[in-house]
Amino acid sequence: MADKNYIISLQGVTKSFGNNTVVDDFNLDITKGEFVTFLGPSGCGKTTTLRMIAGFETPTSGQILLNGEDITRIPPHKRPINTVFQRYALFPHLDVYDNVAFGLKLKKIPYEVTNKKGETVTKYRHYTREEIDEKVMRALKIIDLEDLENRDISTLSGGQQQRVAIARAIVNEPEILLLDEPLGALDLKMRKEMQLELKDMHKKIGITFIYVTHDQEEALTMSDTIVVMKDGVIQQVGNPIDIYNEPVNAFVANFIGESNIYNATMVGKLKVKFLNHVFDCVDDFPLNEKVDVVVRPEDVEMTVIKGKSDDSRLKGKIVTKIFKGIHYEYVLIMGKSEIVTQSTKDYELDSEVYIDVEPANIQIMKRSSTENVYPEAWIDKNNKLIIADGEFDVDITQLLKGSHVDDDLYLIGADGKKYDLDDADVIASIDFTDVQIVDGHDKGNVNGTVVETIYKGDHYAVLVRTAEEEDYILATDDTWNEGDLVSVIVEPSKIRLTLKGDLNKYEVQ
Ligand code: ATP
Repeated sequence: MADKNYIISLQGVTKSFGNNTVVDDFNLDITKGEFVTFLGPSGCGKTTTLRMIAGFETPTSGQILLNGEDITRIPPHKRPINTVFQRYALFPHLDVYDNVAFGLKLKKIPYEVTNKKGETVTKYRHYTREEIDEKVMRALKIIDLEDLENRDISTLSGGQQQRVAIARAIVNEPEILLLDEPLGALDLKMRKEMQLELKDMHKKIGITFIYVTHDQEEALTMSDTIVVMKDGVIQQVGNPIDIYNEPVNAFVANFIGESNIYNATMVGKLKVKFLNHVFDCVDDFPLNEKVDVVVRPEDVEMTVIKGKSDDSRLKGKIVTKIFKGIHYEYVLIMGKSEIVTQSTKDYELDSEVYIDVEPANIQIMKRSSTENVYPEAWIDKNNKLIIADGEFDVDITQLLKGSHVDDDLYLIGADGKKYDLDDADVIASIDFTDVQIVDGHDKGNVNGTVVETIYKGDHYAVLVRTAEEEDYILATDDTWNEGDLVSVIVEPSKIRLTLKGDLNKYEVQ
């Protein structure tokens, strides 16, 4: 029996469609009145989890508890839960009032009477006109549309229509409101307004909201708790500040806000090396451990170099400068690497600056021991994935469910929207078991040298390093020797991509 304070508990919930496990051992407790957001890229299982809570899907295994009672197999209409979808599905021929009242008019409410034999029996009745009126007007007041009750749906803006859809869900007084990308169809300005309104609404009505989005800013703005998901697995659960400041891995760091993410190595007690420079840090990891490091742009300090430069300090050159309203965003290069910074100070383009990061602002994360992660990859104009000096065919349709690539290499969404991914920054990940190695150079996607082989009990972990010092770790049954010149091959379908930033910025109008 779960703790009664938890309105919803998901316990070991797994959902598979055929062989495809899309939600994997999901464990989460949601407190009454909380605003919880499921955040993750397209296809990571957010909607499926929401649909299991609503009762539209049944878990393959695991349990869902509502106030401590098992509801895993209870049908949707018997759960005190309502859902608001991205497509509002309002009735165009009814006005605002009737759209909101629609469900109430059909609803049968039980009441008990004593019959002639003195027994208590349950009967059903419809709501009276007055009851409906009171409920509808209360819901319209919450969404701030009382004055538009007689308006035709077709005359409302997208934002207003979405508010009507919310009113229609809350008029039933559910204990939990599920919202599946409810602002996805709105333009950016309306989205931002509605985010704040939804947050207010949540406070006003005090019920539990479970919200699905792939937009990190939306999640940070509205939620009490964010659940970051990837490939059906929870990566991190926490409040927005913790998730932003203390991401547990490179995936979360990238997904939440602008980040500089680097492959790094621990080179001493509280000393970490990246960007070819040794930084002091506050996280204690074993010597020589390979780690991922995150530095937020606002945490990079710049000082213009005057006179002869100090070679012991990290230096960079400002190559891009964009005014963002409150601050400037700069891109600095140093050797082959770059770092994005933010500052309210106005620096000249092409300035040479020292770069400093406070030890506490260097977030160090354990690197995954099963996959290669390339945080600084990008897509070129031929839709190839570029990882340092390697070029890979890759399936870009994974970035948008139901999409395809047209003859001109644009990504076309199921809704017909067109995206140009030339130069799009991505994080690529490849499982160790999906990297193939062949003898000799120029036989695969990238050339490298075997620099390490470690026997792992039943296979070898082989580390191949390229000329640009990019590492590929692979699992193999064969023995390889340090110094072997090899090529690395990866099948396109085995490379997973996560877009940095929102797909919308690549839309072609
Ligand atoms: P999006 O934001 O694009 O909706 P999501 O994170 O909500 O993504 P889901 O809709 O939960 O992801 O889908 C997760 C995976 O499950 C996808 O690969 C999807 O194709 C698959 N899937 C969902 N429903 C079904 C189904 N009924 N049958 C087979 N596969 C399904």
